[in-house]
Amino acid sequence: MNASQSNHSPAALIPGLVLDANACGSSQWVERPIEKTTEKPLAWPPVDGTALRARKGELELQARWFAGEFGRVFQSTAGEHIQIVQFGIWNRVAGPDFVEAAIRIDGGPPMRGAIELDPDVRDWERHGHSVNPEYEGVVLHVFSHCGEERFFSRTLGHRFVPQAQLFFKDSLGGVFGPDIPVATPGRCSRTLESLPLSSLAEVLQTAARLRFDRKAGNLARTGEVHGEAEALYQALASGLGYPGNQLAFRLLAQRLPLKRLFEEPDAAEALLFGVAGMLPGPDLGGLSGEALSYVRALWERWWPQRASLNALQIPQGAWSMTGQRPANHPLRRLGALAVLVKHWRALRRLVLAQDWRRLRVVLGRIKHPFWSSHYTFAAKRSAKPIALLGEERLDELLINVFLPFVEGWDALLKMRAPERNRRSRIAATRLLARRQDAWHLLGSAVHQQGLLQLYEDFCSRDASNCERCPFPEQVAHWHGA
Ligand code: SF4
Repeated sequence: MNASQSNHSPAALIPGLVLDANACGSSQWVERPIEKTTEKPLAWPPVDGTALRARKGELELQARWFAGEFGRVFQSTAGEHIQIVQFGIWNRVAGPDFVEAAIRIDGGPPMRGAIELDPDVRDWERHGHSVNPEYEGVVLHVFSHCGEERFFSRTLGHRFVPQAQLFFKDSLGGVFGPDIPVATPGRCSRTLESLPLSSLAEVLQTAARLRFDRKAGNLARTGEVHGEAEALYQALASGLGYPGNQLAFRLLAQRLPLKRLFEEPDAAEALLFGVAGMLPGPDLGGLSGEALSYVRALWERWWPQRASLNALQIPQGAWSMTGQRPANHPLRRLGALAVLVKHWRALRRLVLAQDWRRLRVVLGRIKHPFWSSHYTFAAKRSAKPIALLGEERLDELLINVFLPFVEGWDALLKMRAPERNRRSRIAATRLLARRQDAWHLLGSAVHQQGLLQLYEDFCSRDASNCERCPFPEQVAHWHGA
């Protein structure tokens, strides 16, 4: 029986999905051990001894909080009863310390959001959280110290964030370990423990198919509205924006469509930087001669168009400039987009020919006269060339953009999973903590994609600490049928 015909098939976990029952065995991946699901605390940028000790103290506080050492019921500074429904997951990029957490205030409904944890209540202001849009979703500010004066934690949108103080007698600094778990196993990990490996693979592949079809459907819908080429260009731009700038890049591609860039190919790069709002202002002090001549050339092309395009400029607040590896800086990704636009026809030919091997080689070798050796406008020239698109980004572009664009599901089945996908490691910890025998499945892109889909469909919507999540019961029902 076709799995899609059964109410108890994995397809039933995700309505509307048609399972390709034959595809499961055809994956060709190379097994490799999955990375640990713990991460060493960040020490970037490099800090001196005193700052490092302070950072360690803060990390220890956070680690003990996440381990539940301080309990889960608190009284806010305003006297409210605060219950931590779920502690969420460690955030390792810019923004609050814990995301996907949930709290209840005075027994009300669960509020999903982020939790920020600081040694001192004043750190909220000192660290600029009140003017940082990434802190808009914080539902609780936890701190361990405050002075005589009262400090409020408020967001950029002038919302007061509930505060809770931690009281503890022992000092920090003694129990800090090098490895901190980034997430905790979920309730479903017990249900999945008893699932045969082949069934588990089937569930993951079913979820992956749903994910793939959604992406392909989105691309097709954009293609109906704007044309196929523009749909590919928008998706590619959005993929270059990862992490943190997908929306800004998509807006840029929508505001400066390919057909506009093709009208003035020599000015295309300047228009991209200008509309992105990324061109350095009149104060060019500190730029090297090489950077100056590059910026001048961009300005010369941008200047005559500026008045007509200014209204389309992406607001500064839409860009996230922190919390990413220097090589992934949005300026460099913008440079990469300019190169891809320049060679658009060749790129599109390779995609339509589904020549993935060649496409990877070509994209891995694209060069830019400035951005192949600089991290930002002001950075010194790097001694070695810096790849504009690293291996990981190429994998992600293939999985999220090029394969869905040509409906290349079969090619996805043969792909290895991208390296160092932190979200998939968190998902593996949540769902497959008791199935380490199954972690080798995640070496294949399709199973990794399935796991991510389950995480997004269930974990990312849960605010009950797994209690009301329907996934464990759905799996048990299907498996027992
Ligand atoms: S929220 Fe659901 S899918 Fe996620 S870990 Fe908990 S039980 Fe599993």
